[in-house]
Amino acid sequence: MMTSPTAGLDWVHGLDCETMHRIVDQARIDADASKIPYALDRLKEIWAIWHVEDARASPFKYRPVIDARIDAIRNQMQTVRATLDNWRSNMPDPEEEKLSSLTFKKLEFGYNLWKLKQPPDAKSSSFYELVEDIVQQLNLAEQMFAYLDKLQTDFDSLNGEHKSSVFFGSNLEQNAHLAFQGLYPYLLRYNYKTPALRRMLPQIGRLYEFLTNKKFTIAKNPDYTPGDNQEKNLKISQYSSPALRFAYTLLRECGLVSEVFDHPEPPCRGEGFRRCTDELCEPCRALEVVAKNAIGHLNSNLRKETKEAQP
Ligand SMILES: [Zn+2]
Repeated sequence: MMTSPTAGLDWVHGLDCETMHRIVDQARIDADASKIPYALDRLKEIWAIWHVEDARASPFKYRPVIDARIDAIRNQMQTVRATLDNWRSNMPDPEEEKLSSLTFKKLEFGYNLWKLKQPPDAKSSSFYELVEDIVQQLNLAEQMFAYLDKLQTDFDSLNGEHKSSVFFGSNLEQNAHLAFQGLYPYLLRYNYKTPALRRMLPQIGRLYEFLTNKKFTIAKNPDYTPGDNQEKNLKISQYSSPALRFAYTLLRECGLVSEVFDHPEPPCRGEGFRRCTDELCEPCRALEVVAKNAIGHLNSNLRKETKEAQP
């Protein structure tokens, strides 16, 4: 789903302590109520991760494509700069030299036109100075590209979950702007469709641990037995734990379940999916099972990856 640069940010500012209390109550977790106001900021950050991750949906913005284009521009710039440098240093008589080159004549023509449009105190007063200016501007542009190189290196050295909105700090507006203006898609190495949840879940885990002082653990559901029939599979999640309830409820309260799990909103038989806690509402509970299974699978994958990454 593509969204405009700041669309949704109003909504994230609308998240309040009441939302946080509702999540805690409905997930039935044992939270320290005095931490709720601080938890709210973290909730907003988690939501921002979704916002940023979702923004990179455009297949035209990912890093290899942009890199290739930037490299082409850089090469052109370097050629121009080398030529101008050469002219600059091998010009005993710049007036004569410039006439010998058709390109140079064009440049001069452009320069004269440009000069007509400049205020009287414009910097360049001779053609030679214009060449100096152009070289200087090209140098500045090269510095900017070198900065992008450094950003990429910094970004690549981060571990998974930090390659997200976290990279841009906690300022939501700045975050969204940077992400949507193309920097984030540019930094991403691949356009693979990593579920946003992969970036969000570790943060959700930390929020849970912050609120409860307990470890974020998701266990197999003892009531679920593999090989159960299809109908039962829709009703019983393969995982269970207060931490899982918390993760699921948080996503539901933020209105993200159907988007994160790419699943249509179920035809709720009551107040609508986001407010439905009716145990007998089958469509809502079926999506809940889908979501909880996905969260549980992802969590155990993330744990395995972390273990493997440790020496
Ligand atoms: Zn329902």
